[in-house]
Amino acid sequence: MLNQSAINGKIREKSDLSKTTWFRVGGFADYSFTPDNIESLSQFVKQHNDSQIVPLGCGSNIIVRDKGIRGYVIKLGRNFTNIDIENNIATIGAAALDYNVAQFLAQKGLANLEFLIGIPGSIGGAIEMNAGAYGSETANHFIDCQAVRISDGKIFTFTNKEMGYKYRSHSLEEKFIFTSARFKLENKSPDEIISKMQTIIRNRQESQPIKERTSGSTFKNPQNNKKAWELIDEAGLRGFKIGDAQISEKHCNFMINTGNAKAADLENLGNYIIEKVYQKTGIRLEWEIRRIGEK
Ligand SMILES: Cc1cc2nc3c(=O)[nH]c(=O)nc-3n(C[C@H](O)[C@H](O)[C@H](O)COP(=O)(O)OP(=O)(O)OC[C@H]3O[C@@H](n4cnc5c(N)ncnc54)[C@H](O)[C@@H]3O)c2cc1C
Repeated sequence: MLNQSAINGKIREKSDLSKTTWFRVGGFADYSFTPDNIESLSQFVKQHNDSQIVPLGCGSNIIVRDKGIRGYVIKLGRNFTNIDIENNIATIGAAALDYNVAQFLAQKGLANLEFLIGIPGSIGGAIEMNAGAYGSETANHFIDCQAVRISDGKIFTFTNKEMGYKYRSHSLEEKFIFTSARFKLENKSPDEIISKMQTIIRNRQESQPIKERTSGSTFKNPQNNKKAWELIDEAGLRGFKIGDAQISEKHCNFMINTGNAKAADLENLGNYIIEKVYQKTGIRLEWEIRRIGEK
């Protein structure tokens, strides 16, 4: 437990990241830090900015490599799970789970974020990735967010325009840890919202291997072209395996760990797919899944 002046939070040594990533692969981080509040996070980052600092949410869109992370992983905890509503604006902590946010707002008859119901990440991950599904994305109703700059611990607020959101990314040039965001909501009947969410859940169960150890879409869909899964399918790679890393039979833009895959197997499989699809179609797929840490 850290309790130096102005830094409150928990620091842990040798944090096993394979336990937190959805793929269940990856090495250790030297340390993880869970701050009690944004001020402590800011001070901590300021004092440790000579080390590598990596924010981690639910690990649902990431491959942590087998030798792990030399430095600190920042894991925001329950102090960052608030959902506060005022005048149809929700302020949501970055550690709040997308699923919980969607459920909570639906029960209050507040619409716009129902697409989050099927995304197994955190709000922090959604802000970073511009997570989206079924025709909506985080950017659509995002007002602004709070962020701590990794290079010096300074606290910023970024508006939607300043984020410069793009498909599954933003345009900020430096690295930040997002701690909360505000979203604009609309009143609708809870029944209508819940029914939309049930349709989303049903569609996912039918089309995606959501019960497997996966990380969602491996590659971004190329703009103005076929979807990534179609290109992978056309290249004959549905079900293709390297060790226990496999392209899902059910949805070929999903990789799955069928047993004891290493991070290297999954990354090698992804890179192999990129090459094969390029040879077959001339289109170079771009990773959506983030890869971090040492090989
Ligand atoms: C079954 C399944 C289905 C999925 N379906 C979808 C889908 O429909 N649409 C979609 O967009 N995604 C989908 N995903 C991918 C993933 O859930 C989203 O990208 C999600 O937003 C990632 O959130 P996370 O908290 O898990 O982030 P992580 O995987 O932990 O991290 C992803 C990236 O965000 C960064 N990050 C995390 N938290 C913060 C923070 N607080 N501040 C700054 N950076 C941060 C990390 O450093 C990393 O670069 C799916 C994944 C799975 C496993």
